[in-house]
Amino acid sequence: MFKIPEIFKPILEEDHYVGDAIEESLKKDQYTSVTGLLKGTKEFHLRRRHSQAIEANTTLADGLWSTIGSLLHERLEKFYSTEEMRHKGFHTELRMYHTFDVDGQESEISGKFDLANTKTLSMYDLKVTASYTLDKIAADDHEYYIMQQNIYRYLFYKSFGIELKNLYIIGFDKYWRKGEELRKLNYGKEPNQPVRLIKVRTIPFEEVKEYIIKQIRDKRKYDEVEDDLIPECTIEDRWGTEDSIALYLEDFLTKSGTINKKKRATRLLPVSLEEIKEYLDYKNKVSGKIGIEFRAGVSTKKCKDFCDCNAKCNFYQSEKKKRQPPKLNDIVDLSIEGDLEEKFATLKKKIDKY
Ligand code: SF4
Repeated sequence: MFKIPEIFKPILEEDHYVGDAIEESLKKDQYTSVTGLLKGTKEFHLRRRHSQAIEANTTLADGLWSTIGSLLHERLEKFYSTEEMRHKGFHTELRMYHTFDVDGQESEISGKFDLANTKTLSMYDLKVTASYTLDKIAADDHEYYIMQQNIYRYLFYKSFGIELKNLYIIGFDKYWRKGEELRKLNYGKEPNQPVRLIKVRTIPFEEVKEYIIKQIRDKRKYDEVEDDLIPECTIEDRWGTEDSIALYLEDFLTKSGTINKKKRATRLLPVSLEEIKEYLDYKNKVSGKIGIEFRAGVSTKKCKDFCDCNAKCNFYQSEKKKRQPPKLNDIVDLSIEGDLEEKFATLKKKIDKY
């Protein structure tokens, strides 16, 4: 569907950047690779088993951003690998290894860091990615990248005996727009920079080791299992969100007595009557009208557009056929005993039909 103009295609093909980037990414789906281990179990196995089909279906446009990433990595490596930089403590792209004992079976894990400085005890990872992803990393809310950096730190310690103190991501914002960022100043907000240096929290080595062993164990379990019997990747791996109930407490009714679409919900809660009651208790809300609205979570965000083995995934193929539940809502009068229980049960029955 997406194409690179003919005039530019040979540039990408000739240097094999795109081909290399895709091949590299498929090679990483091994027990030996940090990136592979961080993937969801189903994606990890499907990518390994169907790598040829994936490679054949990947277009130059799919690999464009990894190509740009590769070019930036090359520049970074070139700049920091001189004698002068080494003298200042910089090291680039060294491979690190460590062997783990997982239930009596050895597994060697390896990874390559982008840039480290053994004088300042810092490690840097270069990423070309979306603003949204960089915001999440900066908010300490991106488990995948935070754990990835910490695994590199662990391997660095095991390979060179040096305990790094500082982890950073050098994030290139793919969607940075100068005008948009400048407009933020009008609202007293700080604009984002096109390239951000983001500090990543360090995780104790013991916790990182446990995580790695669990990942290897979880994946090994399905080595001999048929594709369709491997459980789907977790909701986090699929970048999904759970279903929720939006609760409206104040000033949300339209004149005709329905929920005003323009109003923001007071609180999003899991789909649970107990959680709603607990929150109402906490807010000391015992009478008057409130709105409850069911909002369906997104379960296949990654599957749909960002998983290159989705054609081979029975979970995604069946999810695709499901109808999306509409937004369902109702008004509850807390002054009427049992009204909340009754309305919630009716809403839940409708939700369960989807
Ligand atoms: S389509 Fe979704 S569930 Fe299936 S392998 Fe990809 S990410 Fe995992």
